Amino acid sequence: MKYDIPHFVIKNNLQKSKQTNVYFGDAVTPEVLKDVCKRITDLDNFSYEYVNNDYTDDFLPPTYNKGRMALLYYKNDVMYISFSEKDINGRNSSVQSVPTAFNMFFSNTYDNKRLYYYFLSVEGNPETDYHILIYRLMKTIGFHFLNDEVLQHKIVPFSSIEDIMFNRKINSGKNKSNNSTYITKSTVRNYDIYGKTYGANKYETSLICYALSMLAKKEQRITLYEVLEQDLKELPEASLNVIKNMGVIRVIPTDLQLEKKAFEENNSLRSPRYIYNLLNRLGKKHCAMCGCEIPEIIQGAHIWPVALIKRQGHISFEEKLQHATSGDNGLWLCENHHKLFDQNIISITHSGNIMFSEALSSDNEAFLSNITTYRRLPEQIMTEQFVHYLDLRNKAI
Ligand SMILES: [Zn+2]
Repeated sequence: MKYDIPHFVIKNNLQKSKQTNVYFGDAVTPEVLKDVCKRITDLDNFSYEYVNNDYTDDFLPPTYNKGRMALLYYKNDVMYISFSEKDINGRNSSVQSVPTAFNMFFSNTYDNKRLYYYFLSVEGNPETDYHILIYRLMKTIGFHFLNDEVLQHKIVPFSSIEDIMFNRKINSGKNKSNNSTYITKSTVRNYDIYGKTYGANKYETSLICYALSMLAKKEQRITLYEVLEQDLKELPEASLNVIKNMGVIRVIPTDLQLEKKAFEENNSLRSPRYIYNLLNRLGKKHCAMCGCEIPEIIQGAHIWPVALIKRQGHISFEEKLQHATSGDNGLWLCENHHKLFDQNIISITHSGNIMFSEALSSDNEAFLSNITTYRRLPEQIMTEQFVHYLDLRNKAI
């Protein structure tokens, strides 16, 4: 297939076109195509066709049956162009077609291909922190923005995994109520991604995996923990295939079955779901007693210990598991403070004061005073449920 003047192929159906009678061509008009064509090829002349669901060629797989993307063929080049929504609002809009476009682009072995993104308009707010993050991830994985002069921000790609992690901290700090994808470190070379796999989260998780795969240095290892919910949906197959083909990230689906097994087998539960819930509630890893932020030595410390939860006779197994993985039942502590807390050398009172055991020698108490910068937990940690777990712990010791 070779076109001497630029030729667009656009699948015209949107998700509910039959009911709504709104087609992709209503937004991506010949006028828009003209602008796109000019920006890519510097030519005014072009041809185009809006095609049906069942249309397929070497670059449009038969499984791709929705709009939001155009292909532009010109001489030896094939351009994949994704379009934003006209009204950019929620986390979903604009972002959902991006992984699909990338998957198609990445999976095609043709050499002369390029990947573009075009803003149809900037109604709504296209520049929330969340959107900027997504644009930066897109730029990192090879999207060219055709008309980003419509934005106030300049979109710069990420330079390293640390660069993304730093940005994520800011992002989740501002909007903690949003469940999202987290990146953290477990050892010097190991990075862990905790990602949900449904709703808008699956787009974000996919994009973060693509970007990290591209930025990873040879010695860096990355694991994706898919935090599956009841209906056990993994990331879309096309995305998983791309992640596997990029060959950098190990993917571990963590369903409740797996958590149950871990819960049954040991008392120091290393559950990805628990870590995810703690990240969600407490933000990035940092010791609540000394402020240490070296993620390699920060752990999730249970308030109501797993061993005690297991011993409860009157509650169901599912409830026990829920208590053991609840984000309210934990704190980030460094390895030192975790051990001291587990040994009850350090304890936390009902009102959140951090206390040292009275049995300590004065030398040891002086040492603890030195390394324990905070003597009281911040107010926002002290949720009703957290205090309930504190009471259960303190009653038992
Ligand atoms: Zn500490």
